[in-house]
Amino acid sequence: MQPSPLTGFSSVCVHAGHEQDPRYAHLTPIYASSTYVYDSAEQGMRRFSGQEDGFIYSRWDSPNFREAEAKIAALEAFGLTGPDGSPLQLKAKLHASGMGALSTLFLAHLKAGDKVLSHYSLYGGTEELFMKILPPLGIEAIITDMRDLNKTEDILRNDPSIRMMYLETPANPTLRCVDLEALIAMAQQHNLISAVDNTFATPYLQQPFAFGADYVFHSTTKFLNGHGTAIGGVLIGRDVERMSGPVEKVHRLLGANSNPFDAFMLTQGIKTLEVRMERHCHNAMEVAGFLDGHPAIASVNYLGLADHPDFMIASRQMKHPGAMLSFELKGGLEAGKKFIDKLQMCLRAVSLGTTDTLICHPASMTHYSVPKELREKYDITDGLIRMSTGLESVTDILNDLDQALA
Ligand SMILES: *Cc1c(COP(=O)(O)O)cnc(C)c1O
Repeated sequence: MQPSPLTGFSSVCVHAGHEQDPRYAHLTPIYASSTYVYDSAEQGMRRFSGQEDGFIYSRWDSPNFREAEAKIAALEAFGLTGPDGSPLQLKAKLHASGMGALSTLFLAHLKAGDKVLSHYSLYGGTEELFMKILPPLGIEAIITDMRDLNKTEDILRNDPSIRMMYLETPANPTLRCVDLEALIAMAQQHNLISAVDNTFATPYLQQPFAFGADYVFHSTTKFLNGHGTAIGGVLIGRDVERMSGPVEKVHRLLGANSNPFDAFMLTQGIKTLEVRMERHCHNAMEVAGFLDGHPAIASVNYLGLADHPDFMIASRQMKHPGAMLSFELKGGLEAGKKFIDKLQMCLRAVSLGTTDTLICHPASMTHYSVPKELREKYDITDGLIRMSTGLESVTDILNDLDQALA
């Protein structure tokens, strides 16, 4: 086999997963087709039995899904090798949303009586899945502070029904991190499945498979798509056979498939991942420097500031502290609302990872339904503002923040 000409990360972003279109379109056209046809019964049989590669039905697979999946798998595997020293092979499955991909992950691996171990400050939807959807199925989530490795080890030693370790790092919206290397090693010792939400970091900044994770998950809605044009989620697995077998079965039967248009948008978005991340990160660093020490601000959570409690973990496992930050206004809830209302360019919106700077106020938006005491336990205080730094000219971002803080 010839060595791949795609040796750099951006080359993989642009080209990986693409197959020459039979009619020579530059981009893979949007396959707006629910079903696929066969030349003969014989061919139908070969496709259904897997003897012949091809498409059958768009709830299962489509050329647009396949391109995005292969691209994402190549990026998560970039530069990594498998146990035999050859390039790491991963398999990705695209879903209608991040939540769809998480549903596949949990339902394909957990059954009644099983438990999943996770930590504080998870994405709100993930937390609700743990608290509301899994318990009636007999699956329990144990939530602890997994930055405390001894405590985590204790829990694992005393509870053999824990089947999975689920990590999100950096986590939303406090940018708390957990130690991937130590925790995944612990999961392996206890024979747990390990899965990591890599949405905030992207494979450009962090590769959980390098530490031995079994699964990586992304809400592709965020940085991977990058332009806020489509909802999507992806589950990437190290065990290719398991991905193609039981995991794919759950994906198909949940009806958690993406659609050709969203997959097309995702594929185009990923092509600029590295250049976007460089600019996102550069802008975020400037913003953090500006906010740090600003008289209206009590504290800044940014993984690039040495006073962030997880600065060391982040600098070990991430290439750069990223584009997400949050900060606490001195004036609490009222100051938070006022600040949000005064913004002129940065957008008042939840979500993240788009070209535009998005700013939200968790206490009045994403975490509005979480009781105050519980919120505060997760460090989501009344005056906390979360910011996804966009690609605008940084001077304009700083000026907008400055006038809104005045
Ligand atoms: C958005 C998000 C999700 C959920 O993804 P959807 O695409 O909205 O379903 C999960 N985890 C994190 C960290 C997210 O930001």
